[in-house]
Amino acid sequence: MQLDELLASVHADIEPFIGEGKVANYIPALAKIDPKKFGMAVVTVDGDVHMIGDATEAFSIQSISKVFTLTLALGRIGEGLWKRVGREPSGTPFNSIVQLENEHGIPRNPFINAGAIVVADTLLSGHQPKETLGEILSFIRYLTDDDSITIDAEVARSEQLTGFRNAALANYMLAFSNIHNPVEKTLGVYFHQCALSMNCVQLAKAGLFLANNGRLSRSGHGAVSAERARRINALMLTCGHYDASGDFAFRVGLPGKSGVGGGILAIAPGKAAIAVWSPGLNANGNSATGTRALESLAKRTGWSIFGAGRN
Ligand code: GLN
Repeated sequence: MQLDELLASVHADIEPFIGEGKVANYIPALAKIDPKKFGMAVVTVDGDVHMIGDATEAFSIQSISKVFTLTLALGRIGEGLWKRVGREPSGTPFNSIVQLENEHGIPRNPFINAGAIVVADTLLSGHQPKETLGEILSFIRYLTDDDSITIDAEVARSEQLTGFRNAALANYMLAFSNIHNPVEKTLGVYFHQCALSMNCVQLAKAGLFLANNGRLSRSGHGAVSAERARRINALMLTCGHYDASGDFAFRVGLPGKSGVGGGILAIAPGKAAIAVWSPGLNANGNSATGTRALESLAKRTGWSIFGAGRN
């Protein structure tokens, strides 16, 4: 079956569920998004783009940005990053603080908020927040070959005004000397990276290097080494959906990273990068219909890394 046809079948599978879940409302700017939106894009390692629904409408990528900042931080400080952040699943919600006390201010992994705040802090060292954000934006634009991608200042401001838990996490880690820059500056970088505004096509293009052994498909240039791409995929599989990472592996079977804007980036190694957007979230803060769509796609393509599993 051709991918366009297959995407139409996925769309039909999830149609009855569109609108399920709850749009994130703890960030006021996200609360007003229409819960009935649904888009999906698949970009193959050959660079072919397939899409369905609202795949060209921009949304707030939120925690999906953590994949790109992790990639940059590993490029900058390499393995030294693992002294400041772990790489084990947390089994706790994305904004949880409970493990930090027992684990002396070292977050479990780079995809929970605490871990991503440390990653942002490493990118900020030696720079002003504007420069760091410029570096993040340039990287995304380079990956996608698309200079139109921007950060939504209203979303960033909205989160800055209400991000008390994140401020608590950052201050708590500072108490263990695991934040090296002024907390407001580190949080400023974190809130703005989360406010990156992208559509499904752009997001799938940005993630393609992870499906392609670290290489950009259009030029064959390496964005990262094959080994690094493999390791980032491993972290996405084990930690990308917080305390629902196991369930996502069980249902979809692909490395994936979710965001509270309702987006999910999933990687089918050697095959394609897939981005899906549907704003209604399940109890773990992951897109409810987006997960269903990926489940259907993985089943229909046989792309799960655990085996085709088709009847
Ligand atoms: N910016 C959001 C927060 O820090 C990101 C959370 C998410 O997407 N899971 O709360």
